[in-house]
Amino acid sequence: MASERTPEETVERVARSLRLRLEDDGRAGRVAVPRAAAAANGTRRASAAAKPMQPAPPASSRAPENRAADALREELAAAAQHVEGQDLFDFGSPDLEGGVGRQDALKRVADEVAQCTLCKELADSRTQTVPGQGDPNARLVFVGEGPGEEEDRQGLAFVGRAGQLLTKMIESINLTRDQVFIANILKCRPPGNRSPAPDEIANCLPYLMRQLEILRPKILCALGGVAAQTLLQTRDGITRFRGRFHPYRGALLMPTFHPAYLLRNYTKDARQKVYDDMLKIQAELKK
Ligand code: URA
Repeated sequence: MASERTPEETVERVARSLRLRLEDDGRAGRVAVPRAAAAANGTRRASAAAKPMQPAPPASSRAPENRAADALREELAAAAQHVEGQDLFDFGSPDLEGGVGRQDALKRVADEVAQCTLCKELADSRTQTVPGQGDPNARLVFVGEGPGEEEDRQGLAFVGRAGQLLTKMIESINLTRDQVFIANILKCRPPGNRSPAPDEIANCLPYLMRQLEILRPKILCALGGVAAQTLLQTRDGITRFRGRFHPYRGALLMPTFHPAYLLRNYTKDARQKVYDDMLKIQAELKK
């Protein structure tokens, strides 16, 4: 991650470049990319801003500068396909889930989560689902790994010991839990707090994506390796890419250490790193 571009960065770079070329060409316009996720999971409508790109006329009949734009267009489409199951440019969808308000739209997702049986083991073992909670207008969203025992008991994200530390992290930048939204990659507790399995993440991720579309936050803070790796689609260890913002679907994503990791490694160095990450978030929120 540290040395390579993320797929989103690639797309942004190409889109920027393509827009410039189109402007040279007198054909400036918005670059649209098909919304793979809507088609892939069948849970969302594609928004008006996400129409598929128009096919270009045959290359042989096109001026050289147009062929250059076509080549970039192809690069853009290839980069788009690289990010499987994700929309690329923003969280879109101004008329939230059929025109209802954010709160209602979030409740709809939570209601669906409550009925979910996609992961049999998790559905059989959970006390209840933990969809996530907070301010429907939050500009900052925290994403953790998955509920623990206390979260499973209460149906609320980050209410156990790690949650208490997360509260301190939030308050360290003069916010309260009520002013942010807190969610997880998984909405059900894995038995014995084991790590989420890849198929569980794949099953559950569309719920988080819908929540993010509704919330359209300015900043996402990924708590720990599982959340950060899942959202940024990398296998790199979190230490390689934490502490700086990564473009993420029109938002900025800050990966930081999971509060449970901090509890296990309660060193000055680790705490300072997390605090520094929080300060960067605070500065960005003020912009
Ligand atoms: N750890 C997480 O990742 N999420 C929670 O909600 C609680 C602990």
